[in-house]
Amino acid sequence: MTMLLRGGRVIDPSQKIDDVMDVLIEGGKIAATGRNLVEDAKGKKKDPGLTVIDVKGKLVVPGLIDIHTHLREPGYEYKETVESGCQAAVAGGFTSIASPSSAISRRRAPPASPTTAGPSCTRGS
Ligand SMILES: [Zn+2]
Repeated sequence: MTMLLRGGRVIDPSQKIDDVMDVLIEGGKIAATGRNLVEDAKGKKKDPGLTVIDVKGKLVVPGLIDIHTHLREPGYEYKETVESGCQAAVAGGFTSIASPSSAISRRRAPPASPTTAGPSCTRGS
C-alpha cells in the first residue's frame, strides 16, 4: 500500500525537520519527504493502492510516547481498561505508553494515613 500525506506540518527533531511538506509512505515505511510530492506521485495514481490524504493544518510527527499513563485495570475497569486506554493513546498519536507500577500497588494497599503516605501522584490522575 502506498500513501501520500499531503501538505502537513512535518516535525521530526531527529532529522531537524519542521516544515510544511508531503510524506510518501510505501510498504509501511517513509519512502520520501519533500514539497510537491503530489506531482511525483501522479504517475502512481494509476496504482489503485495509492491513497492520498490531505493533512493541511495537521501535524505529522514521529509516534508520541507517554511515559506516565494511568490505566485503570485491575480494579477500575468501569473507568478504563488496558484495551480502551491503548485505543485512546493510538487515537491521540501515541505509539508507546508506560504505566507506573505504583499505580497497581497503590490500589491494592489499604488507604494511607497522612503520617504514612508515600510518594503520591496527582498529575493526570
Ligand atoms: Zn500519575
